[in-house]
Amino acid sequence: MSFYYKCSDCGKTFDIKPGVYLCPECSRKSEKNRPVRGVLETLNDHKITVDINDSENFIHSFLPVEKEYFPPIPVGNTPLWQPLNLRKKLGLTNLFIKDDTLNPTGSLKDRASYLVAAFAIKHKIDDIVVASTGNAASSMSGVGAAAGKKVKIFIPASAPKAKMVQSLQYGADVNLVEGTYDMAFDQSIEYTNKNGGLNRNTAYNPLTLDGKKTSALEIFLQLEKAPDHVFVPVGDGCILGGLYRGFSDLYKNNYIDKIPVIHSVQAEGSCAINRALSNGDFSDPIPSNTAADSISVDIPRNGYYALKMLQKYSGRAINVTDDEILSAQIELASTTGLFAEPSSASVLAGLLKEKNEIKNNENVVLLVTGNGLKDIDGAMKKLSL
Ligand SMILES: *Cc1c(COP(=O)(O)O)cnc(C)c1O
Repeated sequence: MSFYYKCSDCGKTFDIKPGVYLCPECSRKSEKNRPVRGVLETLNDHKITVDINDSENFIHSFLPVEKEYFPPIPVGNTPLWQPLNLRKKLGLTNLFIKDDTLNPTGSLKDRASYLVAAFAIKHKIDDIVVASTGNAASSMSGVGAAAGKKVKIFIPASAPKAKMVQSLQYGADVNLVEGTYDMAFDQSIEYTNKNGGLNRNTAYNPLTLDGKKTSALEIFLQLEKAPDHVFVPVGDGCILGGLYRGFSDLYKNNYIDKIPVIHSVQAEGSCAINRALSNGDFSDPIPSNTAADSISVDIPRNGYYALKMLQKYSGRAINVTDDEILSAQIELASTTGLFAEPSSASVLAGLLKEKNEIKNNENVVLLVTGNGLKDIDGAMKKLSL
């Protein structure tokens, strides 16, 4: 029984070991101004039969790093709860919130950092490097601290202050980049190519996709079936890809009998993946412009994989304006008690737009990915003080 990487473009397989990131041949074929080619996904060649009542072993049986290597910090296992006021208001009797703001550093990114840290522990790698718009950096810094690893981050100097302060508190070596996330990304790769260490960049390190799939596994365990709909905020498309990876793993191993309809929610000013879904392919990037920093992306790193999955499983694309996002942020907080960052509140904005397409008794999950305290300036935009 073993796990392996498979190129999502050419299908070539690779061992899971340090130094393996993208498919070398396909990534070389990446075109300028398009998402990178050759993203690897993790697959396994054995049947998984763990009982769903053994929830901890259940989740670990889908992951390519053994349980004993995970650092001592409580990542995942976040609640799936029932927002009663919102249910009533929207007339959706089976609406749920998957509350990933409750991860240790306040975002879903911890799921990926947790698996990457376990991999570093297993392979005795001391240094972890990541480029990020903010949350991946603060997440890797926190989870890395629990794992006893040195973490070096590259983030745009314009990242929300809280995410930077978190990283510093966790003891990371913070490198501010005067420029975009894309520039931070390139600098971090240059750094690991030259100095070694484990690179955790989204949709570069394949384990990031795999770590994020645990949210799908948990939703299944908590509902005891596949939901009908999941609303997910999308930037690089790594969370979206991870959800599809998780649900298709469950499907392949006969735990569920359908893949949910996944709604890809993007900010109108940063919607490359949704645009590609309606046009059939990626086109030249439009510089992103949205208040939701965590989903502000020019060229989505995991674009081709996300597009392929949306096409294969008939996912839906919803674009929402910043005004809709910031109103939904207030509505979510004031009707449910959950204060989410703008990127994450976008899922409620998306649901409000799609509501007529959904039957009243269908199971609907809003995946809420990040805590509102991470971006106070964003949250203040629509408040009257
Ligand atoms: C990173 C992030 C997203 C978007 O995830 P992608 O994988 O880039 O699509 C959404 N919400 C939060 C809070 C994030 O940190």
